[in-house]
Amino acid sequence: MVSFKDLGLVNTREMFAKAIDGGYAIPAFNFNNMEQLQAIIKASAETKSPVILQVSKGARNYANQTLLRYMAEGAVEYAKELGWENPQIVLHLDHGDSFELCKSCVDFGFSSVMIDASSLPFEENIALTKKVVEYAHQFDVTVEAELGVLAGVEDEVQSEVSHYTKPEEVIEFSTRTGCDSLAISIGTSHGAYKFRPEQCTRDPKTGRLVPPPLAFDVLDAIMEKLPGFPIVLHGSSSVPQEYVDMINKYGGKLPDAVGIPEEQLRKAAKSAVCKINIDSDSRLAFTAAVRKVFAEKPAEFDPRKYCGPARDEMERLYKHKIIEVLGSDGKA
Ligand SMILES: [Zn+2]
Repeated sequence: MVSFKDLGLVNTREMFAKAIDGGYAIPAFNFNNMEQLQAIIKASAETKSPVILQVSKGARNYANQTLLRYMAEGAVEYAKELGWENPQIVLHLDHGDSFELCKSCVDFGFSSVMIDASSLPFEENIALTKKVVEYAHQFDVTVEAELGVLAGVEDEVQSEVSHYTKPEEVIEFSTRTGCDSLAISIGTSHGAYKFRPEQCTRDPKTGRLVPPPLAFDVLDAIMEKLPGFPIVLHGSSSVPQEYVDMINKYGGKLPDAVGIPEEQLRKAAKSAVCKINIDSDSRLAFTAAVRKVFAEKPAEFDPRKYCGPARDEMERLYKHKIIEVLGSDGKA
């Protein structure tokens, strides 16, 4: 048993309370490798932004859970080395799908876990979430739960259609489970293809897809039922068109990739939405930078020469999100 406190990590409790009061949101960035972690920590340290490092089931399979946890421990030390005296870093399990997985993360030094039982019937979601909460809270680890179903693909989490969270269920769910935060479905979606072309309109000038707006009426109704309760948005990448264009220009093929417009996320960040998950955008930044090097310097075969620019591009992206979209800079 390792306590997250011994690793210099923090849970989400105080972080979320401050974010709701201050009208900003905490970035939750997924990481799978060293370059991505370096970029996240540099961007957070230089902007003094609290940050949530997320490990998904796919990341655990890809990089190994033990290695990822030690990397997060190293990240705290790296942050201090960068001059961030009191780093506010959460290590969070993204989309935990069983009690056993959540327990193993709690025991292993994670400071926050998500139990995603949103695909189960309401009563079963409550029962499983409550079991995780009861275990995690013994160790002061915070728990994110989910009500409603997001469309899209994230690792092994997949759904064809979304079902918005039902505001009339949130009071009963949060009270009976004791969860610390709630991921809701209001139209965000996992992956780089968040909407089908037929769900969108097309900008006549640019020919680009314009996605439908998020269901802010559902969010408002939820906030009315649970005033001040921390709300989480998954699947909140914006799919920057400059990266899509770069990828396509340098030999990639991402037709009609579309995300959530940043002005909508800015609006959400000012509300009780206090955690915004961003994964696809950093994948796009990484891929765009690597493709560019491969296209322009075909003789290059030192991975540092293409992973380095990819890391720089991700760092730029993370800083942009922190400063221009979530407003979490200077809050840690
Ligand atoms: Zn998610």
